[in-house]
Amino acid sequence: MEQERSNNVDKLYVFVEKMMGPDARRVFEVLYQEGEELSEYDIMEKTELRGSVVRRALNMLAEKGLVTYRRLRHPDKGRLIFYWKVNYEGLPAVIEARKRAALERLKYLLEREEETQYYICPLDKTRYTFEEALEYEFTCPRCGEMLVPDSERDLRIEILRQYVRLLEADRRASREGGG
Ligand SMILES: [Zn+2]
Repeated sequence: MEQERSNNVDKLYVFVEKMMGPDARRVFEVLYQEGEELSEYDIMEKTELRGSVVRRALNMLAEKGLVTYRRLRHPDKGRLIFYWKVNYEGLPAVIEARKRAALERLKYLLEREEETQYYICPLDKTRYTFEEALEYEFTCPRCGEMLVPDSERDLRIEILRQYVRLLEADRRASREGGG
């Protein structure tokens, strides 16, 4: 059970890194491990990242709904300080929305690939639709080489179908696993 939990957390870190880069991941990791509110200064200290880097990461994380903040007046210094924490309740929805968007994008690419035959320049690998190829009389407008039907189309369609299947299976599994 503990193993499964830490596995899920690792996936979450990877997801954050892919979306927003290694600095955002570092900031998110520190907040997640801490489990409670941290000020920007705490985060700078714990991540050893510069203030501007930390602020940029926090803003990106907040924009995606992964973290939330409160503004409080500092008891001694009297100025406003932001306190940040992980939006634990909102995480499943954020991840779900992201996966749904990825799936929609793949389905769109697959549909487009399936309904269009492309022509390709063997030299510079530029792709053209049938209408474009016809307009250029099946010669590449960039280099004059004769265009040929894109033979990798079937492979791309098969790969896209596999991605769609993987994402659909993943979404089913996360629904059945209760989030
Ligand atoms: Zn060409």
